[in-house]
Amino acid sequence: MKNAIIECAKRYDADLIGFAPASRFAKDDPIFKIFPETKTVIGMGFRVLRGIYRGVEEGTTYYQYTTMGVENLEETVMPLALINVANLIEEEGFEAIPQCKNPLIQNAVEGTNPEVDYTDMVRGVTAENQIDFLNCAIQCGLGEKSMIGSVLTDDYGPFIRYCFILTDAEIEPTDLVKPHLCDGCGECIKACPGKAINDQGETDSWRCAVYYNGANGSKNPFMPPEAFTGFDNRMEIIRGTAEFNAEEAKEILDNIYFYPPAKHFYRTSICGRACDRACYIHLEEKGMLKKSFNKKFRSGEDWALSETQFITGKREKEWIFGGEEK
Ligand code: SF4
Ligand code: SF4
Repeated sequence: MKNAIIECAKRYDADLIGFAPASRFAKDDPIFKIFPETKTVIGMGFRVLRGIYRGVEEGTTYYQYTTMGVENLEETVMPLALINVANLIEEEGFEAIPQCKNPLIQNAVEGTNPEVDYTDMVRGVTAENQIDFLNCAIQCGLGEKSMIGSVLTDDYGPFIRYCFILTDAEIEPTDLVKPHLCDGCGECIKACPGKAINDQGETDSWRCAVYYNGANGSKNPFMPPEAFTGFDNRMEIIRGTAEFNAEEAKEILDNIYFYPPAKHFYRTSICGRACDRACYIHLEEKGMLKKSFNKKFRSGEDWALSETQFITGKREKEWIFGGEEK
């Protein structure tokens, strides 16, 4: 059955498939609350196409990452693979329980999910409502956990999303990945336009939400010169250096309207996951990625917009590369 599962998952676009025995999970892990008879967790990883980040990388069009890289993968591609692999398992007489992330719920009472509107979130749900997706990815051998809690893979670096099936079928496990990609370089931390990740690699989800949605003026080509008028700390917000709590973050988010929303409830990512792009570039430069392209993801300096327009109030289009205005 293992080979049939792999074949089916690949047919439905999974790039990585891994199997974790129940013994790799703690006895009180959510997988056993959802399905006490779990014998195997099946993990499937789906690449986020490199080209999906191109618009953000060049500062041009920003929908592809959200519509194709987040929504399409999470809501169409993954469910299709999950249902087909699960059907196959149930044809063999075992139960299969598909696990796709619900981005609108979280166990913690504090914090938010930057990919959705903070007002849509339901917080403080009990642990058994969702498995620990990151831990499942690691236990299934899909990749290694980086210092910032992303999953890094040999072929796609951090450009990967994943989903799972819990089953009572016993399936030969996949080896765990020995961590070898994340070297603690900190490029991901430096790249965040809102300083949302601290030196220990912990992400402040409210900061992340504010800057994921585009509050940094130098990294948001759509921000008008009058943005955040009325905020005492508007230039700090625009520079990504403002200090704020959750309530203030909500106020900032309520004032980000510069780019039309994506089609459904996922928020358009204006930072374009700069942390992951920086990591990908770092791994590519080090020659660590097995899947190669005929050109590098980033060939020159990263761009930034001048902050002058937010001070003068006049629309300008100066692009800064490596500190030089052009
Ligand atoms: S950029 Fe990548 S390799 Fe470097 S510390 Fe961050 S996650 Fe690790
Ligand atoms: S780069 Fe974007 S996704 Fe990454 S931590 Fe910063 S705001 Fe969040």
